[in-house]
This record gives sequence, C-alpha cells and structure tokens, in this order.
Amino acid sequence: MAGYTPMIQQYLKIKAEHEDAFLFFRLGDFYEMFFNDALTASRELEITLTSRDGGGSERIPMCGIPYHSANGYIERLIEKGYKVAICEQVEDPKTAKGVVKREVVQVISPGTLMNESGLREKENNYIGSLTEFEDGTFGLSFADLSTGESYVTLLAKDIDAVVGELYTRMVREIVVSENFSGSVLARLKESMTMTISYSEETESDEEIEKLTSHLQQDKLVKTSARLFHYLRKTQNRSLDHLQRPLFYQIDQFMKIDFYSKRNLELTETIRSKGKKGSLLWLLDETVTAMGGRLLKQWIDRPLLKKADIERRHTMVATLMEQFFEKEELRDLLKDVYDLERLAGRVAFGNVNARDLVQLKKSLNNVPAIEEVIKRLDQPYAEELLNGLDRCEDLASLLEESIVEQPPLSIKDGDIISDGYNADLDQYRDASKNGKSWIAALERREREKTGIKSLKIGYNRVFGYYIEVTRANLHLLKEGQYERKQTLTNAERFITPELKEKETLILEAQEKSVELEYTLFLEIRERVKEYIPRLQKLAKALSELDVLQAFAKVSEERHYVQPSFSESQSLELENGRHPVVEKVMNSQEYVPNSCNMSDDRSILLITGPNMSGKSTYMRQIALTSILAQIGCFVPADRAVLPIFDQVFTRIGAADDLISGQSTFMVEMLEARNALVNATQNSLILLDEIGRGTSTYDGMALAQAIVEYIHEYIGATTLFSTHYHELTVLEDELKKLYNVHVSAIEKDGKVVFLHKIKDGAADQSYGIHVAELAELPAPLLDRARVILKDLEEGSFEVPKAPVKSIEDTQLAHKEVSAAREEVQEVQEVIKEEASQLSFFQEEKASVPEEKLSKKEQDILRKLKDLDILEMTPLQALNTVYSLQKQLKKK
Ligand code: ADP
Ligand code: MG
Repeated sequence: MAGYTPMIQQYLKIKAEHEDAFLFFRLGDFYEMFFNDALTASRELEITLTSRDGGGSERIPMCGIPYHSANGYIERLIEKGYKVAICEQVEDPKTAKGVVKREVVQVISPGTLMNESGLREKENNYIGSLTEFEDGTFGLSFADLSTGESYVTLLAKDIDAVVGELYTRMVREIVVSENFSGSVLARLKESMTMTISYSEETESDEEIEKLTSHLQQDKLVKTSARLFHYLRKTQNRSLDHLQRPLFYQIDQFMKIDFYSKRNLELTETIRSKGKKGSLLWLLDETVTAMGGRLLKQWIDRPLLKKADIERRHTMVATLMEQFFEKEELRDLLKDVYDLERLAGRVAFGNVNARDLVQLKKSLNNVPAIEEVIKRLDQPYAEELLNGLDRCEDLASLLEESIVEQPPLSIKDGDIISDGYNADLDQYRDASKNGKSWIAALERREREKTGIKSLKIGYNRVFGYYIEVTRANLHLLKEGQYERKQTLTNAERFITPELKEKETLILEAQEKSVELEYTLFLEIRERVKEYIPRLQKLAKALSELDVLQAFAKVSEERHYVQPSFSESQSLELENGRHPVVEKVMNSQEYVPNSCNMSDDRSILLITGPNMSGKSTYMRQIALTSILAQIGCFVPADRAVLPIFDQVFTRIGAADDLISGQSTFMVEMLEARNALVNATQNSLILLDEIGRGTSTYDGMALAQAIVEYIHEYIGATTLFSTHYHELTVLEDELKKLYNVHVSAIEKDGKVVFLHKIKDGAADQSYGIHVAELAELPAPLLDRARVILKDLEEGSFEVPKAPVKSIEDTQLAHKEVSAAREEVQEVQEVIKEEASQLSFFQEEKASVPEEKLSKKEQDILRKLKDLDILEMTPLQALNTVYSLQKQLKKK
C-alpha cells in the first residue's frame, strides 16, 4: 500500500472488506471504480476505462458512473449475478480534514435488490440461507426483502431435496458459512444460477431474537439468524418490515421435483423460459401484483389436506355463481396497490408522496371489498374478512395530510394538504398574502405612474422587480426607484417596500418547504407503524385475488369442481390439457377421458408419434395439480386421488430441455422417482428408455414398469413406442393397455388424438412414414419386413415378476430375444439385397408409355395385399411378376 495516495489507501482498505462486490466509491458526483473492478465493470457495462495517478508506480485503471444514474448500472450488474457495495462520503467534504471519511452504506446483491425497476412485480425475489448440521440435515431459510415475507424449514440429508426446494422458490442468492460443504455448493452452482454469499453465525441480539423467538428448534433459529445477520449487515438499515419466519415442512405440500416442474411447464416453458405457455400464464387472471406472486406460490405448492383444498374450491364455486360480485371484486382489486412492496419500501425509507396517495386509494377500496365479500355469504370469505383490516386511521391520516396530486420529489413542497398543520398554513398564508400584496402593488404603481405596461416580475437572481419599458422611463419619479438590471427594451427596478415583502414571502416559502419535508418524514414514520397490519391486509387481498382468478379461468374455460377419492380412483370425463387447449384456440381440442383405480393403476400408452401421448399424460398431471392448488379442472367430471408427489420422466431422446440430457440423467431421474414414489404418487414415464439402443431400452422400460407394479403401486402412466411391451397386460394385473387412435382416410393417417382401450395397431409407424412421403417401394418393403418381424419368434418373457431376481431373469430373457431378432434381421437383409434392384429402371418411365403387359403387371403389383402375405408368398409373387416382365 505504501506509495499510494491517502485516498487510494482508503479505497483499498474498504475494498478489502468487500472483495466479492464491485465497490462504488463516491467521489463528488460520481461513483468511481478502480483496479480490477474498473476493468471488469468497463467490460460488463460498456463504459469507458480511464486511469489516474494514485501515487504508485503505475497508473490505476478507473471508470466511473454519475451517481444520479447509478441505479440502471447497478441493476445490470445485479442481473448478471454480481454484488455492488455502495460507499458514500459520510462527512461534509467542505469541513473534512484530510481525506473525506467514507463508508459502505449498503451492499446490493441479487437477493437484496429493492429498486422497483429491478424487480418483477409478479415475482418474489428471495434470498436464502443454508446451514448444514452435524447430523447431515440442512436448515433452509429464505426471505423476500421487498415484501417482508420469510420462511424456514428443515430438510433431510438429501441434496436433491435442497436443490429442488431452492429451485422451486427461485432463490437468487444463498448465504452460507465459509465452512459450508464444497460439494453441496458445487451441486447448487451446477443446478441453477445463484449468487453465493458468506456469513457466519454470530451471537444473537435483541432484534434477531425478536424475529426468531417463536421458533421451536435451535436449528431453525440458527438458520434464520444467519440470514437476518447477513441482511442487517449488508443493508445497514431498519428491517422493520421483515416478518417472523413462517415454519413449514416440505411434506405439507405436494412434492414436485425440479425436473418434473420444468417438464410440466408449471411456471415457465421449457423452450423460451418465459411465462407465456405455462400453467401460470393460463391461470394468471390476477389483477394485483401481490395476487400474481401468491398465485405463483400456490402453483409451486399444491395442497395435500382435503379440507384445505375443498375450502378453496368452495370459494371458487361461490365466486363463479355470483358473477357480479366477482366482477365487482375484480374492479375493486384493480385499484389496490402493491401493499407488500410498499411496506418494504416504507421500512427502507424510499417511498414518496405519490406512493402514499396510492396507499390511501387502496385503503379506501377496502370497505367496498368488504361489502362485496359480505354478500358472498360464505364461511371462507368471512374468514378472509377478518383479515381485512381497514387501517381506517391510516387512511384518514393520509386523507388529511397528503394532497391529491403531489409531485415526485419529496423535497420541493406541494405535498401536504392545507389545514393539516397550523404553522404550515401560516407560512402559506404569508406567502399567499405577500403575493396578493404584490399584485395590488402592481395596480397601484400603474395608477401612480400612468404606465399601463408596468409589471412586477420575479427571478431567482434578483428576486422581485418592477419592470418598465424604455419608452416609459421618463414617467418614473426620480429617487424612488433603484435601478437593478438593464435589458434591451426595459429597465428593472426595486423599492425598499418591495424588498421587505420579498423577504417575507421567500422566508415563508422556504420555511414551508422545509416544514413540508419534516412533516412528510413524520407521516412516513407513522406509516411504518402500520407495516404489520398492512401486510396482513395484503395477504387477505392477495388470496382473494387468486381465488377470483381461479373463478374467472374456470368459468371462461368451462372447468368443473373435482371431487376426491380415498383410493386410487381417477375418473376424468372429457378431460383436456389446459394449456394446449388454450393455445389451440379455434382448432378443435379432442377431449379425453381417463379411468384408473386400485386395480387399474398403470396405463401403458401406445400410439404413433405425434398422436398425443405426451399431451395426454401431462393433461392428467396438470389436472391433479390444478385440483390441488384449489382451482377447478378442465373436464366434464373429475374424481381424483390426492397425490403426494408427481414425477415426470421424459425419455432422453424426447428431452427438449437441453443438450446436457444424457441417458445417464434419464436413469438418475427414473431412480429418483422409483426411490421416492409411494402408492399415493403419480408417475409419468414418457418414452423412457429411448436414450439407449432398442433392446436395452425396452428391457429397462419393462423392468421399470414391473418394479412399479410390484413394489410401488403408484398411479402410473407409461407411454412407449415399444409395442412389444403391450403383452405385459396379460402378466401384470393392474396394468392396462390404452392407445391413441388414428384412422386412415384417403390412404393417409389422420390422428384423432383419442385415447382408447387396448394396444395400438403397430403399422402406424409405417403410416407416419407414408405421411412423410417416403418413397413407395421403401414403404412396401417396410411392410414386408414388419410382417415378418411380427410373425418371427420375438417374444417378450411372460413369467409374472415377483422379485428382483425375477426381474434380472427377465433382462436375460430379453437379451436372448434380442439375439434372436438380430438373426432374423440378418436373414431379411440378405433377402433384401437380392430384391432391391427390382424397381430402379421402372421408376422414371411414365405409365402411359408402358406396354399393355407392363401396365398389367404394374396393376397386379399395386393390388397385392402384402400385409396378408407371408414373406415367402410375397417373394414368390414378386419373382413371378419379374419373370413375366423379363420375358418380353
Ligand atoms: P406424442 O407424444 O404421441 O408424440 P404429443 O402429445 O406430443 O404426441 O402431441 C403432438 C401434437 O398433437 C401436440 O403438439 C398437439 O398439437 C396435438 N394434440 C395432442 N393431443 C391433442 C388433443 N387431444 N386434441 C388436439 N390436438 C392434440
Ligand atoms: Mg411424446
């Protein structure tokens, strides 16, 4: 450090404490960055890199940002996952001796962003902390600094569960101990983009104790305390709006792991990562930002308790029945401001008078909302009503104190209403009186001098003045007016009387602006006291908002209220995939029923590509999720089990998510389902086993189905293109074949997207190839081969599987079968090589130029019903036809 100027030394000292952040070092009107910070920032923000002499041997890289436009730059850095430490001058540079004292006043990171422009209004912005305990369990706590919500939970010794939970909550930043397990961190970093921050547990203090005293377990306290310490340390200000962490357990809610969430496109689509096209997009008829955030939370956490679910359903039903009340409620909620984030900003000290006017307007709507709810005459609604704290005293405070249309700035006056404060009224009177006195003076001077164009004006430099045009100057009496300023066409004068009044007016004005600011801060402080009440109100209003959104969607899309079965009974009449149905718009969506039960718990779905297998499976998962978050479901009638977990595995070849998906991932994920699923779970296995060679894949697919059938008993939908597996229906008691039907129309396949009992007709694969207009001879050839394969000795083992050993045996048998099939294929190949020359010359000859005999033979060839022939018959026929042709 030696050699550097004192300021650079100061910089380096502060920077050493904030190595993981860009240090925004305040120098006059700029935030400057030096050294590596400057190099990186100039690149990331595309700002000019300069340098300065810092006393050392080399010039120091430097770049700067004007402080008044810093927000945009900060947000860009945060968006990229960086942190920014704001270092301000904390003493007046004019009176400072030596280098001005500077301190970091706030560290802004992805998890602690408070600027409205940097936050998505309908999304929470969570920061979490993770603590690993000696027994291997994890404590997880997270909070949204912008709204004040906070949560805490304990997770088993299972890193997948930790990752899953962090992913579900979209935690953007996680605070851990310096000693936190490196392997766990690596896993976190690999699964999601998340900023990692460090903080140790420190001695608890009063504020943190207050926030955590309700928590029953030491582990929970420790976990939450780490987070609160970090927040307080980095934010350096009141965290008054932070709520006591709500303890929850992940098994309180339907578990949907990370991959399944993505596959089902609950809150974002796989391809674009956007909301559009997701279930959230379909459901988002919320009209407030708070409701939007709560909806996302509900989708992420479907309920398990029947009573809780039905409570929501009943409310949705009521709102659907009472159309006008619902519409009225929507209208009223539209005028409700984001009370949660407002509470956060009040605590942080960045609300302006306009925010408070909006708060007032929101509060003014509460009585009307209450009125509508009373009319619903519904127990759940009444309960919500209890949450509707009108905060009447706050509303009337704001009504009395703040004008209807205040300016953005809180420092320039024009905020506080007349009549709110006597002193302010006096100042205002004084300045108002002064102004009318001046108007009167103008009139008097005009009369006295006879100059009609005489006027009194004001500017910042000279204050009030009397202006007389050059032509009229001679009319002024000498001695009474003091010349102040000369313009081209006029002269400006002052009089002692005018100056005296001026002082009064300006003083009054200055004092009133000052007083307004003080009063505003006072009011803001008083609003602070209402934070917990506002938060409670916000919660009730957002719940109402989500419920009305459910009602709106259910009504528009003709959803029905589902009922729940105690067993595995799942009956859907004319069910639809909610999102595909909406996206298809005018086109006809083909509804599909589903019928499953304890004795019919596995459906093996076959059917050609693009026929609708994946859509059907997802339809059932999404329907269950919709039901369990409390919404109605897309069907004419629905009876559903309450699922504890949903697993969705997509065969690697079908996996669109990313290139990283390998067969290994597919298997790992299948394992996750097999290990964690219970009889009450829903498993979707979509073309599993595709990522490896046919026989491997088929063997695994079969073994997996058998395993689920024998050991898990979960409700399972299994789509496969291995038609061979359909024979399992004979062996596995609870497994049934269904297929997606297609019809032939004008010789082409038309998909009906209709699910029917039984296995699919295998030849559709070839029909699809036909659709794709593969050459006709090739297709005919394929039909021959197919027929042969079907009649060939390929057989799926039929012994019912009872144990792992049996399963292994089954694998062996499949391998044996595989060898057999290979042999058959080789024979066919040989035959094919003898046949393949047969049509080549013909293809290019137009039909009408053929001889009668040739045309005859061609017709015979066309009329052959190859599917009805054995390969040998076909071969013989072709042979004889060829012979006839050659005879010519
Ligand atoms: P598969 O999994 O059998 O290859 P998908 O489920 O991916 O087929 O469906 C293919 C396409 O068919 C979908 O993108 C959708 O446009 C359409 N589709 C699927 N199911 C239906 C349905 N029930 N009604 C209308 N169109 C459907
Ligand atoms: Mg598919």
